[in-house]
Amino acid sequence: MTYGDGHHRRVEEDNMKYHVNESCIGCGLCEGTCPEVFSLNNEGKAVAKDIDTDDPQAMQALEGCPVGAIEEVK
Ligand code: SF4
Repeated sequence: MTYGDGHHRRVEEDNMKYHVNESCIGCGLCEGTCPEVFSLNNEGKAVAKDIDTDDPQAMQALEGCPVGAIEEVK
């Protein structure tokens, strides 16, 4: 029984929602990394779409934010 690659499956538990908090400095990095989820609003701050995603780029954007403004929403 080897289902070792199971974590690659699109299972609901792996999906994550993201939220940008007020420490965002509007650098645009997250939008560049994962435009599917992040975009800059007309105040120059990033906002995350209200979607569940398992897109690894979204996690990459979270990790790449220079001020740690991106949070996971459970
Ligand atoms: Fe804001 Fe961080 Fe995105 Fe830059 S990477 S726009 S600081 S949330």
